[in-house]
Amino acid sequence: MGEKTYISFRRTKAIHMNITIQPVKGLPLIHAGDNLPALIAERCALEDGDIVSIASSVYSKAKGHTRKLADITPTSRAQRISKMTGEDPRFLQSILDASQDVLIEFPFILSEVACGHIGVRAGVDQSNIEDEMVILLPPDPMKAADEVRVALKKITGKEIGVIITDTCGRAFRRGQTGNAIGWSGMPAIRDFRGDKDLFGHVLKITEEAVVDEIAGIANFVMGESNNGVPAVVIRGCERWSGHDSLYFNKKEDFIRRALSVRAKPKKKE
Ligand code: GDP
Ligand code: MN
Ligand code: MN
Repeated sequence: MGEKTYISFRRTKAIHMNITIQPVKGLPLIHAGDNLPALIAERCALEDGDIVSIASSVYSKAKGHTRKLADITPTSRAQRISKMTGEDPRFLQSILDASQDVLIEFPFILSEVACGHIGVRAGVDQSNIEDEMVILLPPDPMKAADEVRVALKKITGKEIGVIITDTCGRAFRRGQTGNAIGWSGMPAIRDFRGDKDLFGHVLKITEEAVVDEIAGIANFVMGESNNGVPAVVIRGCERWSGHDSLYFNKKEDFIRRALSVRAKPKKKE
């Protein structure tokens, strides 16, 4: 990807942030080969500093990151998991194929995909696509976000940030929220470490996953079913500085370690 590009946001104090969130309306059903950045840019007047949040499902459809269940032959592992979960073994195979490391197999597959994201069913979806098809996550969502940012710049001449989202479950709490799986034009995390609180205490721990917060509100505007809104424009964010290490490395991730002790998948099949 080369040098990281940070778009320049309006410089305001957080206290003055006046953020608006607009759905991009009227997008058609997306198919392989569609020019998603152009379709989005035609339907909204983008400004410098805007962030466009795009559902991974439509990015993947536009790029053909989909599979037909009929083309998939399930392995014995998929068949064994199918007996436990009751899911189509071909669907389970598409999840296993998309997984780099399976953390748990039951009651659902939870796995790490190549980019470091850990998700239920590897983020493979059977919704918002024709019957007997699945949508995979973009194989390199960071590259995807960068590519869309550059394309939007070319079309509009504007400096626009891009966040690719997916709706994800989470540990400890019921309900799904939008997560950022790829981003470009901004750092993932706003680093508060070293800042002083209202009483002058130096913050030692707080790193705010801003891209996930933006993905969360974008996901709310998108909806999950038949809204037909796979892209959302967020305007008025203050710039933030920090870093991109959104994913724990394996050493830091003690919850993942605890899981692997409890639910290590059976021998390779
Ligand atoms: P995910 O969160 O990335 O898995 O995507 P979802 O399947 O939840 O879809 C997010 C939003 O995009 C919802 O409002 C869907 O109705 C909408 N959507 C999904 N596919 C399409 C499409 O091909 N065209 C349009 N216009 N909207 C879509
Ligand atoms: Mn999804
Ligand atoms: Mn969704």
